[in-house]
Amino acid sequence: MTLPSYECVLCGLPQLETRDHMFFHCPFAKACWSYLCGNFTPVANVHLNLESLKCKLKVPFFMEIIILGAWSIWKVRNDFIFNQRPPSLYGCKQLFK
Ligand SMILES: [Zn+2]
Repeated sequence: MTLPSYECVLCGLPQLETRDHMFFHCPFAKACWSYLCGNFTPVANVHLNLESLKCKLKVPFFMEIIILGAWSIWKVRNDFIFNQRPPSLYGCKQLFK
C-alpha cells in the first residue's frame, strides 16, 4: 500500500512509524508509559520492553495494563488521522481509564 507519508503523526518528528517507535520510543508514547509506569525506560527490543513493564508494574494483571496502554496510544493515533483530533496525553489517559 502506498501512503502519502510513513512518518509518526504523534510526535511530528521525521521518524518512520514503526511498531517500536509508535509504542515505545515516540515522545508521546514515552509520556503515556510514564503515566502508567513512572520508572519504565524503553529499550531497543520490544520483548525486553514487555518484560521490563511486567517487572516494574508488579501486578498480576500487568498484561491488561500493557494491552490497554498500547490500545490507547493506537486509538489516539487513529483519532488524529481519521478524525483530525490532535493527540493529547489527557485524551490517552481518558481512553486508558
Ligand atoms: Zn513519534
